Amino acid sequence: MTLVNPATGRFITDVEHSTIERVDEAVARATVAQQAWAALPPAARAAALRRFAAVVGDHVEELARLEVANSGHPITQARWEAGHVRDVLEYYSAAPERMLGAQIPVAGGIDVTFLEPIGVVGIIVPWNFPMTIASWGFAPALAAGNAVVLKPAEWTPLTAIRLGELALEAGLPEALFQVLPGRGPVVGERFVTHPGVRKIVFTGSTATGKKVMAGCADQVKAVTLELGGKSANVVFADADLERAAASAPSAVFDNAGQDCCARSRILVEESVLEKFLELLEPAVQAFRVGSPDDETTEMGPLVSAAHREKVRSYVPDGAPVAFRGTAPDGPGFWFAPTVLLPNRTDPVATEEVFGPVVSVLPFRDEADAIALANAGDYGLAGSIWTQNLGRGIRMSRAIESGNLSVNSNSAVRYSTPFGGFKQSGLGRELGPAAAEAFTETKNVFISTD
Ligand code: NDP
Repeated sequence: MTLVNPATGRFITDVEHSTIERVDEAVARATVAQQAWAALPPAARAAALRRFAAVVGDHVEELARLEVANSGHPITQARWEAGHVRDVLEYYSAAPERMLGAQIPVAGGIDVTFLEPIGVVGIIVPWNFPMTIASWGFAPALAAGNAVVLKPAEWTPLTAIRLGELALEAGLPEALFQVLPGRGPVVGERFVTHPGVRKIVFTGSTATGKKVMAGCADQVKAVTLELGGKSANVVFADADLERAAASAPSAVFDNAGQDCCARSRILVEESVLEKFLELLEPAVQAFRVGSPDDETTEMGPLVSAAHREKVRSYVPDGAPVAFRGTAPDGPGFWFAPTVLLPNRTDPVATEEVFGPVVSVLPFRDEADAIALANAGDYGLAGSIWTQNLGRGIRMSRAIESGNLSVNSNSAVRYSTPFGGFKQSGLGRELGPAAAEAFTETKNVFISTD
């Protein structure tokens, strides 16, 4: 596969794709490595993961530069992403020594539970956040005593490949964590059909996620899905409108809108719609779109020419554009931040665009806001802006979504659970319980008679 820099369209490198035979060989080696890994003392596994975290920490700048070249992420964000991988590893390095089972009162003996590793875990990663999403799977999976085979997205494999090398440099056992670049329908699908892979962690589109889930059903294979979103940023008339408007652009245009949590619908109470748009326009125009190498850039290009065509199809000639930001001309897959005033049922207002396009939709009252926020099959993230504490709590409980923030558009934190309601996903990643999600609970009764 030939990789090109999304900001310049220039050739970066060629990456060889794995075959099915290569996957099968990797799973066989991972199966052996997992047994030795699980047999190590918990403190030894913890120490190995801390070393891995430290080595990633020593390579933050290198990983960030790779992501800038391969994915077009602005350098400051790419540094944050590489630092986040280190932090996720550090957080889960505490888990091996805290995989606590239960002791349950029963008659005639003692009953205890063990959290046993599942075995080999297959992780399928999308192109939008190549390193961070990979780490949400591999760090807790390794911590719980599993081996990992990981397939990065075809377009963005470079940081994952480097993380695989850094794991070895840090002293993780050979074959415990293997990165297998390749095509979804070849490598990804083989993870799903291979009987030796006992859990799949998939992040990507809802359509592919459904296929993966159906494939897992065939072997009753565990599966975690983190899928699409069409999240609502709900602004009430009693909100601090200045703050809400100032932070709305980054809530949707970060990573050029290629973010499953993008607040791509701004719902505004109709009595303040005009005022809100007046505040939003300068904030959108000030959003700095440009070279990912520039330290002041807030938004880079889209990931590929093909993806830009998909995003463009949502903003045809005659689309109800309220205003736009700016973007460079010339080579690279640029798309200016775009604010639309569509009808509630227009495809751009209901489908995941995955680009820097936001729909502003007025609502009448709290009940209307809830109905509109919950319309559709997605339920991943969202924000609520109001000075009324009771309303903030009522809205947080009423919106069917896995990750909400009140008076903020907070990003994902590794220490809190993350995942979607409805067709935005299945299961949760991150937070204190993530390592447990990579185990089978075994119940053992020991007779005292
Ligand atoms: P996909 O869901 O197709 O890709 C995600 C990952 O799954 C990639 O690694 C892909 O491999 C792999 N894959 C593809 N087909 C299969 C399969 N049959 N079995 C197993 N794995 C497979 O997303 P796209 O890249 O096609 O993006 C399409 C749209 O999906 C975007 O425009 C966006 O709306 C949404 N999306 C949402 C994401 C999220 O974070 N929730 C992330 C990415 C996309 P390969 O790279 O070879 O295609």
